[in-house]
Amino acid sequence: MASSAAVDVAGAGRQQALDGSNPAVARLRELIGGHESTAGWSRCWEEGVTPWDLGQPTPAVVELVQSGTLPAAGDATTVLVPGCGAGYDVVALSGHGRFVVGLDVCEAAIHKAKQLSAAAAGGDVGSNFFAFVAADFFTWEPPEPFHLIFDYTFFCALHPSMRAAWARRMADLLRLDGELITLMYLAEGQEAGPPFNTTVLDYEEVLNPLGFVITWIEDNEVAVEPRKGMEKIARWKRMAKSDY
Ligand code: SAH
Repeated sequence: MASSAAVDVAGAGRQQALDGSNPAVARLRELIGGHESTAGWSRCWEEGVTPWDLGQPTPAVVELVQSGTLPAAGDATTVLVPGCGAGYDVVALSGHGRFVVGLDVCEAAIHKAKQLSAAAAGGDVGSNFFAFVAADFFTWEPPEPFHLIFDYTFFCALHPSMRAAWARRMADLLRLDGELITLMYLAEGQEAGPPFNTTVLDYEEVLNPLGFVITWIEDNEVAVEPRKGMEKIARWKRMAKSDY
């Protein structure tokens, strides 16, 4: 068992530990090379080294959708999922008046997301309420800012030196009255990344100066088994500029 795990660095669709003891995470770190590199992420997707990939929507996303508490702007709520990977959460968030854009810097990820979502829709892509875009979160310019942005395993995937820029992009890409939801994977004790060590304070340090405040935070009770006890979900709104 242990030896087969040592050679199997792919494993998309299985729930794996996201720490250095997992050979797939060790390989991911080799490919990313310790700094933020688009080429590194592309190599991961091309080699199938995607240990983060659950092969299904994140249970907390399914709960959020069922909770009926997501922003509702009539029939035209726009949602962005940056670093969407294979896009299960994009599809899960879509519909009921929500149009969701899944963004990933890797063409291979977007290709996979399109294939999987088309297969799930039985080929009927015309009526879908989502789209996938291959572009860099840090430079992409959408026509309009979004009502909702959902971040999961994107903040922790980025080198910590990118976090302030991540927050600035969130502010740019979100409407002033929009909501940011962060499902926070709080990796700790890691000597390298991704995923990089992350705390709630790390989010606050970059988001608070831009006026974002937490309106709700809870432990993620429905985290998948290897991530149990390591995740919190926070909802953020922006205060008026004069208040900060
Ligand atoms: N959220 C997904 C994938 C997490 S892995 C899931 O939970 O399955 C992080 C993803 O971010 C990878 O797919 C990687 O290709 C993407 N990524 C990394 N840097 C990016 C950037 N600058 N812009 C957009 N996507 C990026």
